[in-house]
Amino acid sequence: MSERFSPKVIPLVDARPRPLAVPDTWLEPGSRMTANGLVSDTLGRNLRDLRISVTDRCNFRCNYCMPKEVFDKNYPYLPHASLLSFEEITRIAQQFINHGVQKIRLTGGEPLLRKNIEVLIEKLAALRTLEGQPLDLTLTTNGALLARMAKSLKAAGLQRVTVSLDGLDDAVFRRMNDVDFPVADVLAGIHAARDAGLGPIKINMVVKRGTNDQEILPMLRHFKGSGMVLRFIEYMDVGATNGWRMHDVVPSAEVIQRIRAEMPLLALEPANPGETAQRWGFADAAGTYDRQAGEIGVISSVTQAFCSDCNRARLSTEGRLYLCLFANQGYDLRSLLRREASDADLASAIGHIWSGRADRYSELRGAMAADTGSGARRVEMSYIGG
Ligand code: SAM
Ligand code: SF4
Ligand code: SF4
Repeated sequence: MSERFSPKVIPLVDARPRPLAVPDTWLEPGSRMTANGLVSDTLGRNLRDLRISVTDRCNFRCNYCMPKEVFDKNYPYLPHASLLSFEEITRIAQQFINHGVQKIRLTGGEPLLRKNIEVLIEKLAALRTLEGQPLDLTLTTNGALLARMAKSLKAAGLQRVTVSLDGLDDAVFRRMNDVDFPVADVLAGIHAARDAGLGPIKINMVVKRGTNDQEILPMLRHFKGSGMVLRFIEYMDVGATNGWRMHDVVPSAEVIQRIRAEMPLLALEPANPGETAQRWGFADAAGTYDRQAGEIGVISSVTQAFCSDCNRARLSTEGRLYLCLFANQGYDLRSLLRREASDADLASAIGHIWSGRADRYSELRGAMAADTGSGARRVEMSYIGG
């Protein structure tokens, strides 16, 4: 790795820029924005999906996310008092739901490291959407603790999981997680999740050229026909510590081309509006969609922006609301909670923040890279969640 991209040169203070304060005028009765349904941003995008990071810690050190050189024992992880409590998370989640959120994903860091996470899941599972339906409640995990926890997660009310897995070859996988964690244990976690009924399961593979791109076809063969949906994710320029270079990105178009050289695929329609993945189905000998073999997805965050229908908000571990994965600042909702704001105040703050949203980083990526060089102050993926 060249010195320019060495994670060691990035000062730690960049990891968590100061929060944006919510102006008092957004909470005043005259300007109050009540939560009585959908709220649109400046580009007409409705708020539907909330990702909640429950910890900034992780038991893996994937080089593209938490490189060891930066996230070592001296890294200033958040102290426990800074974290939102389960009661605080649930209270905020309720106000997001009142603005139209239907789906909540727990993430991190590694969400299964948050102590008693099942208690939070129980609280969130009891909430209802504006239509009176249970939330679509899911969680993204590296799978290391899943074999042990799958049953209790299901019993608490979790509906499904997405498991990150970057290869099947044990040596490649151990190198990618950088803590020598064996792939067999993650596979055991995936099986436990399936047996516990935490499906349909999605498997996320970040593809990095020259590191794990040789695992694309083995992963495909392994998960074809399993009922699980394997998704190939372009390696992204999130955060400021992973030394991202365009050269390391394997564009989704190339992934599909490589797969098609081995087996036929058919493009499928998106299942939901705002879906991040483009869907492809395995085709049978007659060239029609083979439902038994199932589908795969590609997430082209770098080469094909999907900002125009991005309906996702992100709540960081310490209660900051981020409007984009690539944002460098978030709004401080925790201080509202801790100075005893009412539910109406919280709802009003969320409404004002979302209605002013103009973020579309991926669409602007080229121009912004030219403007700002490395974008060094962006928030880390392990802090804001994927
Ligand atoms: N620890 C959990 C896990 O790995 O599933 C949840 C948090 S992790 C930040 C969420 C997702 O972000 C994972 O699927 C991970 O592979 C992905 N991710 C992290 N850094 C990335 C990057 N630079 N580019 C693309 N995806 C990334
Ligand atoms: Fe941890 Fe997930 Fe980041 Fe890997 S991608 S370091 S498992 S938070
Ligand atoms: Fe959404 Fe930001 Fe990603 Fe665009 S770049 S899809 S606005 S999170």
